[in-house]
Amino acid sequence: NLSKRLETVASFVPKGATVADIGSDHAYLPCYLVHKGIVQKAVAGEVVDGPYQSALKKVREEGMENQITVRLADGLAAIESGDGVDTITIAGMGGSLIVSILEKNPEKLESIQRLILQPNIHAKLIRQWALAHQWKIIDEAIVEEDEKIYEILVLERGPMELTEAEILMGKELIREKSDVFVKKWTNEVQHMKKVLQSLEKADQTPEILAKREELLHHVALVEEVLKP
Ligand code: SAM
Repeated sequence: NLSKRLETVASFVPKGATVADIGSDHAYLPCYLVHKGIVQKAVAGEVVDGPYQSALKKVREEGMENQITVRLADGLAAIESGDGVDTITIAGMGGSLIVSILEKNPEKLESIQRLILQPNIHAKLIRQWALAHQWKIIDEAIVEEDEKIYEILVLERGPMELTEAEILMGKELIREKSDVFVKKWTNEVQHMKKVLQSLEKADQTPEILAKREELLHHVALVEEVLKP
């Protein structure tokens, strides 16, 4: 059984796609996609030997060696030109690590039609990257599992315009304003206000003042969105 988080990632994979799952760990996601008949071919990439061995073992156990190629590689280097990969999934890492993986081998993105990204934190960095690289966020989801809240972003090529609040919180997610979304941002505001209180007590260096200003600005953006 796949986690709700990865099931949501899987729900955005087009039927018949060829997927590369980068940072695949146990290769749960590609195995699920093949098992459900959503994809016939996938690559599972891992940079660390332990998870790479787990992925190999899982694919062997499932008898999916003909469908899923497991590679020990850093980020998008797992994708080879003959693979025909058109969709990339990257899940369960911070937004900054996901962005650094996307930026390291930009040529690997040339044949890619869709990116499905699930940052554990800092989804904002992915929205900024998308804006700067002519990717458009075509869908977004937010799910809660085991007391944690996850965002899933779906990108295809195209122009996009986002406001500051939309970069921080997600245009589609703001529009939906689901209970999980309200919960996440209510918590974030509380957290930001606590940090602000502690910064008020600190030495008011230019860095501290800048940080306070940024936090105040974010609190205002979020409170405006949460306003009933
Ligand atoms: N994607 C799975 C999920 O969402 O459940 C596994 C998430 S796990 C927390 C993150 C995985 O990414 C780890 O197995 C780690 O080794 C791998 N990883 C981190 N940086 C990587 C990189 N540059 N290239 C490939 N894999 C990477």
